[in-house]
Amino acid sequence: MSGDLYITRVRPMGEAATNLTVRDGRIVAYGEAAPPGVEVIDGGDAILIPGLVEAHTHLDKTLLGMGWYRNEVGPRLIDKIENERAEKKRLGIDPARQSARQAILSVSHGSTAIRSHVDVDTEVGLSGIEGVLRTRETYRDIVDIEIVAFPQSGMLIRPGTVELMEQALRLGAHVIGGLDPSAIDRDPKGHLDVIFRLAERFGVPVDVHLHEPAELGAFSMELIIERTRALGMQGQVTISHAFCLGMADQDYVANLIDALAEAKVHILTTAPASRPVPPVKRLVEAGVVVAAGSDGVRDTWGPYGNADMLERAVLVGMRNNFRRDDEVALALDTCTTGGARLMGLEDYGLAPGCKADLVLLDGETLAEAVVSRAPRRVVIKGGRVVARNGRSLVEVA
Ligand SMILES: [Zn+2]
Repeated sequence: MSGDLYITRVRPMGEAATNLTVRDGRIVAYGEAAPPGVEVIDGGDAILIPGLVEAHTHLDKTLLGMGWYRNEVGPRLIDKIENERAEKKRLGIDPARQSARQAILSVSHGSTAIRSHVDVDTEVGLSGIEGVLRTRETYRDIVDIEIVAFPQSGMLIRPGTVELMEQALRLGAHVIGGLDPSAIDRDPKGHLDVIFRLAERFGVPVDVHLHEPAELGAFSMELIIERTRALGMQGQVTISHAFCLGMADQDYVANLIDALAEAKVHILTTAPASRPVPPVKRLVEAGVVVAAGSDGVRDTWGPYGNADMLERAVLVGMRNNFRRDDEVALALDTCTTGGARLMGLEDYGLAPGCKADLVLLDGETLAEAVVSRAPRRVVIKGGRVVARNGRSLVEVA
């Protein structure tokens, strides 16, 4: 398997059909004759898009393949956090095995890169980080996995957690995570100062879960923007969820969007039906990078999710009242280019020279391909076919 391919009759982003030459895992040219002796794939007029990007999930905690989990958890955020810590022990949720299961499911749906938040707390310690690092290594040829050290149970309220976060970064976590600095740790300045200090020391990006509503979330968001500017971390900081951007006070939201754009802070949305959400089009028009993610897939938090980023594009579209074809394309962008920019993926896209991380979709137009979310015809990672007709060619080791 050399990473050389020749694909006939594909339509890049739904445009006119052409042939594509891939060499050494990279796109070389469109419209050339087939080089001799190379594996040929008949594209069959499928639409060609770059690999889907799952920019926010939790690979360590999925219950995929473990039987149905009967969810009887309480309504508050803290109920879910405490329930999960207890169930991790009771059910024996193995982060290495579970992350492999979800990563392979993602690949079957066309994701070629994943950013996963991974729990770090004083009970599981670094076992989640170690497990997902193992999966990352085992499956490196079929998917890129980036790991965020994530203080799911709070950080300052649980002494010992900061030290574990630091160890997670030494072990190889790529990003420092945070969680509701006001609502969970109840010390926004302390929480964010610790995270940004670690980011500076280890030279890693920041990705903060911010579920805090309205003005409370806006306050935390302003503190994150301030620190991004002060440390010169423009382009290195993501705010996940950012429900506060869906609040009613439009003047306040407009000011926040301007500040996010100016500080180059990225926004990650899961477009949940149950909460106010960031306005994707306004953010993108202001120049903010917006990406999308599944968040938890079938875990103790909730029964939903299938790790399909085309389905996520549909949810982003529906939640943002996108109807026009160009709007559906924008929703898809959050699951491709937006995610790639958020993760800082190099040489991403369909241009010659880019890595051959590619998906072939059935559909007359790009919008039709998104909304019908048919099984992916072919998924290619680094010039090698890794899934066909919705099935991964690699199984859990
Ligand atoms: Zn999350």
